[in-house]
This record gives sequence, structure tokens and C-alpha cells, in this order.
Amino acid sequence: MFPDFAEQLRLREQQGLRRFRQIVEGPQATHITIEGREYLAFSSNDYLGLANHPDLIRSVCDGAQRYGVGAGASHLIHGHSAAHHALEKALAEFTGFPKALLFSTGYMANIGVVTALVGREDAIFADKLNHASLNDAALLSRAKFIRYPHLDMAALERRLAESDARRKLVISDAVFSMEGDIAPVQALVALCNKYQALLLLDDAHGFGILGQQGRGSLSVPGWQKHRLPNLLYMATLGKAAGVFGAFVAAQADVIETLIQSARSYIYTTATPPLLSQALLTSLKLIEHDEWRREALATNITQLKREVQSLRWKLLPSMTPIQPLLVGDSQEAVRISQQLRERGLLVPAIRPSTVPQNTARLRISLSAAHLPHDIRRLTQALQELAAA
Ligand SMILES: *Cc1c(COP(=O)(O)O)cnc(C)c1O
Repeated sequence: MFPDFAEQLRLREQQGLRRFRQIVEGPQATHITIEGREYLAFSSNDYLGLANHPDLIRSVCDGAQRYGVGAGASHLIHGHSAAHHALEKALAEFTGFPKALLFSTGYMANIGVVTALVGREDAIFADKLNHASLNDAALLSRAKFIRYPHLDMAALERRLAESDARRKLVISDAVFSMEGDIAPVQALVALCNKYQALLLLDDAHGFGILGQQGRGSLSVPGWQKHRLPNLLYMATLGKAAGVFGAFVAAQADVIETLIQSARSYIYTTATPPLLSQALLTSLKLIEHDEWRREALATNITQLKREVQSLRWKLLPSMTPIQPLLVGDSQEAVRISQQLRERGLLVPAIRPSTVPQNTARLRISLSAAHLPHDIRRLTQALQELAAA
């Protein structure tokens, strides 16, 4: 029977689960305009404040002059431009891996990598709180999908030891997108070496932020990436890098395998080369503007200090993702709504995106927030907590 979409939408609405898009006028920034009203936003992934940077805008214009607007074809059919190629080289150098490969989005990178590496006879081991794109990739691959409790390395080891799969692939967020906490990357690498598993780390929220000069969660002193043949590093370019896209970095043979068989790489149009041109500039700013990471760290410290006395507590996080645990879904939505009435944007995140009874306000900080921006948020939270 033809499904009754209207009825299903009505049910969703009744349960308070219907979601709405808000039309943002003008550029992404800490202050954004929605339907004529200005808001102070704590809801963006533009952690370094690069999404509207004049140097990036100039690079986009320069890229358009040189390459036009559309890539015109997929990478394997004459759509792979000099700008894409230069960016891949720069990303490999920046992350310390022999090679890097650009994907259109992080979602597509995860789908493409996982399905290219494992299939029916293989097994995937995944942290329970991984990003949806990694879960979708695992299902699409048809490999056995084994999940372990969040960050529980002992549980992961038991599952790896028990498995007789042909090929094993461990997948994990490096920084968890709804928690802000960080995976124990050294323990993950050690376990994967011990059990001869491949490891895919998704550093969407760590790239540009963590590690020396923002080189990411795998920027561990003394690590030589060419000695880690089983490691794949994935990061997105639409968050801290401020533009769009994603990449995977790994050994040359792994990257070549992805070029040959990652379907979300092969069967899609290359992204506009002008974006790669902007990303080359963004990468330089990430590398050299240490003050942006310092400003971010100062903002994180200020937020933590000023919400200490609230009855809602921040989850332990040293990243720009600072979730304030509320618990009850309706209360989280109500606080988010009341903040909005005060001109502050902080999204409420509810189950099923997060576990039951852990609804939260997901505060995202940026290097571009000023001390009085954070003060405005924490003062409003204090008033709402007292009410
Ligand atoms: C945002 C995100 C992605 C998806 O990246 P896009 O480039 O936005 O498609 C993948 N993984 C994680 C952990 C993310 O936070």
C-alpha cells in the first residue's frame, strides 16, 4: 500500500520530533542573521572562524578565474584538476602520510573507504557512539557489524580476539561529535597492530584543532606514519578548515586501492577546483595561525569556569564540542528555545542521536567567539537554571 506520508509527518510532529530548517542570511559567523533577526550562534563547526575569511574568498575567486566553476567530470574521467592534485599533496604532507585522496564529503569518504576495504566475509568493529556516516558505511559494506561500548578498549580486544573474520576493520571517531571526547588513538593503533586489523579514524572534529599546528588527532610525537601500514586517517574540510569536502590519508597502496574501487569516489563529479584552491589557503592558515587555536582554548576555559556552578554539567571535553548534559529531552528543548528567545543559538540534541536520558545542549565554540559572547551565553544559562 502507498504509505500515508501526511499521517506519518503528523505523528512526528506530535512527538515533537519534526525538524525545521532555518534560513540563514549572509555568511556563516558567530553572529548570524535568521529571518531578519541577529543571533549569537554556538552551533557551527567553523571552529577556527575561517568560513568567511577574506583570504579564502580571494582564493575562491582566483580559483574560478583559473579553473572556471564546475569540475565537469569525475576524477577518473578528466575532472581531476591541478588544484585537486596540489591539495592532495599538501594534505599528505601536512598529516605526515605518504598519500592523500580527496572526497566530495566526509559522508562519502566513509561510505567509500569502508565499502572498498571490507565485504561479506569480513568484520567491522565500531565504537557505539560513532558518527552516522560510519554506521551507514558499515551496513552498506555487508561485513559483520560488531559494536563495542564507547571507548572500551578491553571490550574491543575481546571482540577482536574472538573474531575469525577474513579481514578486520576497526572504525572510530577520533573526536566524538556529540560528546566532544577523544578516542584513545594510541591504544587503538596498538590493538589493531596486535590483531592485524585495519584502523579507520574519523577526525572530522580534530583536524585543524588538535595536534601540533592542528595536524590532527594522529599528530603524536615520534609516530612515523609510513610505518603504520594498517592506518587510514580521514578528516573533513567543511569544519575547522572552513570550506567543504574531505580526505583520506594512508599508505600509497591503500590510496591507490581506494582510487580503483571506492564507489563514492569513482561515480561522482569532482568538487569544483576553486574549493581546492581555497583549501590550499585554509591549510596555510591552519598551520600558521596558532593564535586561533589559542583563542579557542581560552574560550573553552572560560566556558568551563563560568558554568561550574550550574545544575547542568558539561561533559568532560577539551575540544570545541562542549555538551551541557540536561537529561530530559523536553527540558533540553525548552532551554534551547528560551536561549533562542534571548538571541542565542544552541541546539538541543536528543535520543536517538544520543543515548536515552542524556539529552543535551551541544555548545560549539569557535576561535571567533569573544569573551563577552561566552559571558552572554553563561549568564543566560544561569538565569534559566534559576527560573
Ligand atoms: C561531519 C562529520 C562527517 C561528515 O562530513 P561531511 O563532510 O559533513 O559530510 C563525518 N564524520 C564525522 C565524525 C562528522 O562529524
